[in-house]
Amino acid sequence: MQQQHLAIYDPFENMRFGYRICFLCGNTITPDQTAQVFPEWLMQEYGITDRPLQMLDQSVVQFQELQVPCCRRCQTQYVQPLEDQVQEAAQRGVAGLRALDPALLFQWLGKMFYGTLINELIKEQDPLIKPEYAVSEQPKMLMKFQAFFRVLQSIRVPMTFADFLPGSIFVVEVDAAAEPSRFEFRDDLTTMMISLRLDNALIVCCLLDNELLKRAMRRVWAEVEPRKLQPIQAAEFSARVFYGAYLLNVIPDYLPRPVKPQDEVVVMDSLIDDITDVIFNPWENSAYAKMLALSWARWGVTQQDILKDTEAPMSMLFTPAGEFIEFPEIPEQK
Ligand SMILES: [Zn+2]
Repeated sequence: MQQQHLAIYDPFENMRFGYRICFLCGNTITPDQTAQVFPEWLMQEYGITDRPLQMLDQSVVQFQELQVPCCRRCQTQYVQPLEDQVQEAAQRGVAGLRALDPALLFQWLGKMFYGTLINELIKEQDPLIKPEYAVSEQPKMLMKFQAFFRVLQSIRVPMTFADFLPGSIFVVEVDAAAEPSRFEFRDDLTTMMISLRLDNALIVCCLLDNELLKRAMRRVWAEVEPRKLQPIQAAEFSARVFYGAYLLNVIPDYLPRPVKPQDEVVVMDSLIDDITDVIFNPWENSAYAKMLALSWARWGVTQQDILKDTEAPMSMLFTPAGEFIEFPEIPEQK
């Protein structure tokens, strides 16, 4: 018989999403049992409680309004302890976040990403709401979310990942002295990307790539990791990761090894079908420039500026010869 606490829960099998279903274990609960998608400590520390956040259907909610159904047991035994550990690490800044077990950082980012997603999915189940872009009608996306949730359950189910980390996580040090705000947030459901800036710590993460992106970007990362980036450089780094995630063409799958009676943890194996598939679609400068222009919008740099040389998009990180730029010259504001 399988031990109950090692059982993997799969809400995607029957699309079980609702205000009375715990997001983490699937138990039926009363609607007052919830957890904040963005943890209380984070909202308090950065004063973002009533900051607006745009959802997929273009509706706008406040950070504090985003909640997930979560039973008391999951809340007190799994979610809160995770929050406590990350809060403690975040108080020590970049060094603290880098020292944290990456699996915990993955769970923490993953919970916010998944919590946002769940809100979209619950809304879509409401027959009165007919979203133009329904996540639940995208089979390929649902497959991704299903695979992702299998490893995200490591928040609750004791689990080790055999020889992989499910996502690529970068913790970048930014010179945030002149930044207008202490907090930034960005996510993208399609590419499984999430990024947060907490003061001078920028966390950029692709949640479902088994670190393929980190491996592909290892030369860039080797230059970036030991340095303190200027905000315009951090924005470029972030654009590179977001674009890389967009090019990713494979979806990892996760399979739990059969649990034996004496087992205390589930061992998760991963499969990537990289024999038949190209791992990354080819890089296109024009598409990348479009993404970079989004990141650089506040500096007034346009896609055309970036592509003055169509073969070599503008960079604030590296010279054309590939040398790291210690003191980037910020383009003049128009
Ligand atoms: Zn639960």
